[in-house]
Amino acid sequence: MDPHRLRNLLHPDLLRKRLEHEERPRTTFSFYRYVRLADAGNLRHALYVEWEALGVLGRVYLAPEGINAQVSIPTDNLDRFRSVLDARPEFRAVPWKIAVEDDGRSFLKLIIKVKKKIVADGLADDAFDVTNVGTHLDAATFNRKMEAGALVIDMRNNYECAIGHFEGAYLPKADTFRGAIEEVKQVMKEKKDAEVLLYCTGGIRCEKASAYLKHEGFTNVNQLHGGIIDYARQIKAQGLKSNYLGQNFVFDERLAERITDDVVGTCMQCGKPCNRIGNCHEATCNMLLVQCEACAGKYADCCSPSCREIHQLPMEAQRAWRKGRSTRSTKTKAINDPEGLRKRIREEEELLAFNGTLHPELSSITRENSSRA
Ligand SMILES: [Zn+2]
Ligand SMILES: [Zn+2]
Repeated sequence: MDPHRLRNLLHPDLLRKRLEHEERPRTTFSFYRYVRLADAGNLRHALYVEWEALGVLGRVYLAPEGINAQVSIPTDNLDRFRSVLDARPEFRAVPWKIAVEDDGRSFLKLIIKVKKKIVADGLADDAFDVTNVGTHLDAATFNRKMEAGALVIDMRNNYECAIGHFEGAYLPKADTFRGAIEEVKQVMKEKKDAEVLLYCTGGIRCEKASAYLKHEGFTNVNQLHGGIIDYARQIKAQGLKSNYLGQNFVFDERLAERITDDVVGTCMQCGKPCNRIGNCHEATCNMLLVQCEACAGKYADCCSPSCREIHQLPMEAQRAWRKGRSTRSTKTKAINDPEGLRKRIREEEELLAFNGTLHPELSSITRENSSRA
């Protein structure tokens, strides 16, 4: 079989339309497992064929160390999907975490990638025992320990914490996993015997983080089993109080799912309380930012006046300007200096008022276009 055919080649707009017209409800869920996969390359092709036939969409990483999958599937195919997973010894009985807030539009296509690692953690795995993880806690126990005064630590990146987190948790300033874990090690270096509670989105990052901290001499390391995603499900099912406030950042089209109505974020542009996160709509920027409705209107869904100016040009001129510039498809680069952003906006607005443009180079593009027309 030609592996090049085992991928989706359709345009995103078409895929979005197709999904909007799909009648069958979908369920979004995620799962991961650290397990030895001897031949991830061939497994990838086999899984693509198997899962595509069941209508699975999503993003899946395979690596010699295991699988990490975020997918959506027509709900009436869930049982069938369970059986095909269970038929493979390496994935048998792998637990699922079902998203709480879900319109089934979380993914447009199925992507299965073979990677070196299932989480890009930047840690040297051979330097410590990755299987010596912390104690797994369910939602009720996590709440109880938290309320008894254990130290809660967010193992996600700064932009993920910006719109929701556990009350009183330590929120690392770093924007990578590696950075966050080094920061935690530093901040906690006098408290190696304290009871610590780690959490992340789905639990996978805590597997590595807890093993690493134990290796570094921390003696009482615990972690939220199934992450925020499963915490939300458990508190709902058991009628518990949510100590997690606000939104849970997720790595799909939705960007965030609501856990509680609390607003813990701040608009990066005007500084008002805000839980709304989005990407700058200018394709060469695409930076993630927390942005209120009013600012989204004011800046045309862009991060700055300079991105707005490009974004509001006629399509033809936008294309001409972007020529030779790289557009970023990544959704996970975030603005992490809101103060700097606000300063830049002020400067740009001033310059714009003075010059009428922030992109003097546009005049030649517009001239070229009109002379061609
Ligand atoms: Zn704002
Ligand atoms: Zn931008």
